[in-house]
Amino acid sequence: MTNRIDLHTHSSVSDGTYSPAALACLAHEKGLSAVALTDHDTVDGTAEFRAACENYGIESVSGIELNASYEKEMHIIGLFVNENDKDLLAALDKLRDGREKRNAEMVKKLCENGIDISEDDIRDAKDGAPLREIGRPHIARAVINNGFAESIPEVFEKYIAVGKPCYVERLRYSPEECINMIHEAGGIAVLAHPIFISADGSVLAPLLAKLTDMGLDGMECRHSAFDRDFSLLAEKLCSRFGLLRSGGSDFHGENKPTVLLGEPAVPYEYIEAMKAAEGKK
Ligand code: AMP
Ligand code: FE
Ligand code: FE
Ligand code: ZN
Repeated sequence: MTNRIDLHTHSSVSDGTYSPAALACLAHEKGLSAVALTDHDTVDGTAEFRAACENYGIESVSGIELNASYEKEMHIIGLFVNENDKDLLAALDKLRDGREKRNAEMVKKLCENGIDISEDDIRDAKDGAPLREIGRPHIARAVINNGFAESIPEVFEKYIAVGKPCYVERLRYSPEECINMIHEAGGIAVLAHPIFISADGSVLAPLLAKLTDMGLDGMECRHSAFDRDFSLLAEKLCSRFGLLRSGGSDFHGENKPTVLLGEPAVPYEYIEAMKAAEGKK
């Protein structure tokens, strides 16, 4: 067992390809000491994940990743959330209703843009799951299965990334609503991969000032999309705004084959600081 942890992972319950139990098994093989499951818009994998982690002696953290309404991709992660919190579950259910509507519209737009694809095709890309549980990576997979592209990044670039012709908005909560939901479910709120908003500290600083006023608790300083310079910048911003440091791979299995579980390395000290901060509340 190392002192390495991973606080950002996705299972097949959202848009990863490993089941929660298989994810725990892989974490064991990699020698990770603590792992958070942070599926998009759902905590449905947490019970299976916790049980499997217990088997391997791995500390599991119940998490969630929410896509906040903002002009860029702003994702807020909740860690240590109570997955039985009624208000949280109701809010997540609404997000999944929003997915159902958005996914049907995206299928229509893809057809209008010359891609022969059906709702059943995108469901098949997730073992027949209902439309409300489908994410854009599954839509991308279906486009590939139907012979219209070679890779998931290609489908995003050409059709379904924000601003591309077949992208359709879905229901999202404001950053403040995301932070409040996480707090009310007993969790801490962490800004995920800030580099997707900007790599420029002078753009991030005023945004972080606003988010910390709203109650943001932490920010990722380690992530598979960061280089060394950005990690150092993120650490400096955390110190300046009194934010806890977090980090993880953003593992999605075969849906993001270059992202490996447990990489980059995240030290166990991050989790200790989070627990100490919780204790002071
Ligand atoms: P959704 O929640 O259905 O809108 O899908 C969001 C997911 O799509 C994110 O979790 C990412 O995994 C994936 N994603 C978003 N943008 C891109 C991109 N440009 N290239 C590859 N995957 C992306
Ligand atoms: Fe994802
Ligand atoms: Fe994300
Ligand atoms: Zn993620």
